[in-house]
Amino acid sequence: MDAFICTACGTQYPPSQTPPERCPICEDERQFIPPTGQSWTTQERLALSHVNGWLEYEPGILGIATRPRFAIGQRAVLLCTEHGNVLWDCISMLDAATVTLIKALGGIQAIAISHPHFHTSMTDWGRAFDAPVHVHADNRDWIMRSDGDLRLWQGDTLQLLPDVTLIRGGGHFPGSSMLHWAKGAGGRGVLCASDTAYVVNDRKHVSFMWSYPNLLPLGAREVQAIATALQPFAFEMMLGNFFESVIRTGAKQAFERSVARYLSAIGSNGAQ
Ligand SMILES: [Zn+2]
Ligand SMILES: [Zn+2]
Repeated sequence: MDAFICTACGTQYPPSQTPPERCPICEDERQFIPPTGQSWTTQERLALSHVNGWLEYEPGILGIATRPRFAIGQRAVLLCTEHGNVLWDCISMLDAATVTLIKALGGIQAIAISHPHFHTSMTDWGRAFDAPVHVHADNRDWIMRSDGDLRLWQGDTLQLLPDVTLIRGGGHFPGSSMLHWAKGAGGRGVLCASDTAYVVNDRKHVSFMWSYPNLLPLGAREVQAIATALQPFAFEMMLGNFFESVIRTGAKQAFERSVARYLSAIGSNGAQ
């Protein structure tokens, strides 16, 4: 039996004889059903036409994304820390080359996922590297395949490793999370923000949406909650969720500037 993968959002479902009838992740208003309808693939089929590409942001921080672009175009990040390797977010395709290369880099000690648009094939990745998969409990309703070593975490932060913290920002999804690596960027800090704060095209600002494909924005209160969650954390570099979405320097200031710009654009004076 195959574990079918939705080609629109990249979510993998439990093994079945036939593809699922629906994809609740796509049916949710934060995603969409393509006008051509829902279609499905498998790891085996995907590997016939796609490869995983790599991008080094700096030594110890590698982006991994499928090429040609697949599903939402998600990019995972492999952080090689002195306490072990962490996979932040996940992508659907996991082929033999990817397993071989990551094992040569020391494998993966923990996987952490920002929100349902990156649940993808997290079960396959967790199994291949014998790594637990951390998902915020507030996003549990969107877990479509739960037969791996899944660890639901609660609250506002989780210390994953001595210098790696998961931070719940909420907004896009109730459990939307970010990852902070204190020792990244030469000790000045790296923030992986995924869709909680979205790195925009100038790579100098971020923005905030409840639904990115349907352009439904977040309210002032949610954006201020994300800013409050990040207040204690210093970061020089910030990674969004595609290969190219990166703010390389001055990211904390860029984030703060962007919060002010966003609140002004939606007509909020910033007061709660
Ligand atoms: Zn889908
Ligand atoms: Zn998303």
